[in-house]
Amino acid sequence: MKRLDKGYINGAFVALHGKEIFQLINPTNQQKIGEVVLADETDTKNAIAAAKEAFKHFSQTSIEDRIGILERLKSEVSKRENELIELMVQEYGGTRQFCTMSVQNSLSAFDNMIKTLRNFEFQRTAGNTLVQMTPLGVVAIITPWNSSNHFICSKFATAVAAGCTVVVKPSEMSGLQTQVLLECFHQADLPKGLFNLVNGLGNTVGVTLTNHPDVAKISFTGSTLTGKAIAKAAVDTMKRVTLELGGKSPNIILEDADLESAIPQAVFGAYMNSGQACIAPTRLLVPKTKLEQVNAIAKAAATQVIVGLPDSESTNVGPMVSEKQFERVQSYIQLGLDEGAVLLSGGVGKPAGLETGNFVKATIFTSVQNDMRIAQEEIFGPVLSIIPYQTEEEAIAIANDTNYGLAAYITSKDEQHALRVAAQIDAGRININGFKHDPMAPFGGFKQSGIGREFGTYGLEAYLEPKAILI
Ligand code: NAD
Repeated sequence: MKRLDKGYINGAFVALHGKEIFQLINPTNQQKIGEVVLADETDTKNAIAAAKEAFKHFSQTSIEDRIGILERLKSEVSKRENELIELMVQEYGGTRQFCTMSVQNSLSAFDNMIKTLRNFEFQRTAGNTLVQMTPLGVVAIITPWNSSNHFICSKFATAVAAGCTVVVKPSEMSGLQTQVLLECFHQADLPKGLFNLVNGLGNTVGVTLTNHPDVAKISFTGSTLTGKAIAKAAVDTMKRVTLELGGKSPNIILEDADLESAIPQAVFGAYMNSGQACIAPTRLLVPKTKLEQVNAIAKAAATQVIVGLPDSESTNVGPMVSEKQFERVQSYIQLGLDEGAVLLSGGVGKPAGLETGNFVKATIFTSVQNDMRIAQEEIFGPVLSIIPYQTEEEAIAIANDTNYGLAAYITSKDEQHALRVAAQIDAGRININGFKHDPMAPFGGFKQSGIGREFGTYGLEAYLEPKAILI
């Protein structure tokens, strides 16, 4: 069993002042697999001070030096790719399929920032004025437990590209994978103080970071509730914020779509990362005239979904990350029944043979009304709502009728038609005919799904401040 009792401050693993312990529990069997000593306010302030000192030099580094650092980071992380996947599977029960993709995304985050840097203009002109894109300063990176290592790598890569230094506060639930990343970063021979990390809780480490005057920006991925608390706290010191928050993404099946391929894809898509994905297409909008046919195909597809131990290559849905999350998903499934949605597959309770872990049944509700809470609120578990629509106009209205606006999906044989629909959807990322990921494309949410964009040029700009120099 691992005990993680060090922070990483100013280029060294250091003992913490914090005394509280967080237990890491394997979600498939409730066995303890490690413990994390939680940093306190003093540890956090020390990490901020180190990042502040390092910024003086790091903000002046050349582009070539930054590219060198990104190359070394990628090389070190890639050496421990398999170990990272294993630990993700163990620590939060992510399926092997998903964790493999997540770690590959972590590696490509470094490549993408190198590509972005090579073409980025830090010196520009506006009218007769010189505009210098200057690094913001110390950036606090606060991440959730789902795909934690990908978020840390992509946010840190962007900070390096910009010339910013960082203090990272990962989710307390991601201790094991974070430790491996830390060891990789340590091997990458970084300038001291460029990267600092403290494990800890949101209400101590997180709050200290969001309130501290020496932190210039918060780059946060997590729930909308926490994002709002961070945005409010950040205002006092006028910190810049990038907030990647929750979602309730619509998947619009247009009249002409091939249901035999679109519906199974929609079912499996809704269960990505066992339903614990911000971009999961959890609302499936289908023409009312085709509802019966859709129900039949969806029900058949559900029988193909494998809920099971996450380390098996064939598992589609693993356990929920924690007992708390398990209970939350159960309560939403019960709520769906109480609200009068029609249960097509799954339901409350654990699947047979998986009683020791936080497993839930892969669930589909149909004939869901969009004003039901199961259609409006982020469940963060494998629960799909099928919502019928009468006209395309109504489909668009339903798609936009939530507080969220992270992702949307549209299926049609006619790409131009799908593009016309996409133009009317309030979402930061829209997939037409399938599930694609382009890490160079801006990523972020409309409405309460967030503020700002990550990845590529858009992500880099969010770590920079334009300085206009009139000569
Ligand atoms: P969470 O909001 O509970 O926690 C996220 C992080 O914030 C954790 O490190 C936590 O310790 C910290 N935190 C909590 N309170 C804080 C405070 N007051 N001040 C500062 N930090 C604080 O989210 P979670 O349960 O870890 O992750 C799931 C959520 O993340 C879902 O809502 C999901 O949609 C969202 N998410 C969004 C994206 C995206 O890119 N938009 C990606 C993944 C997950």
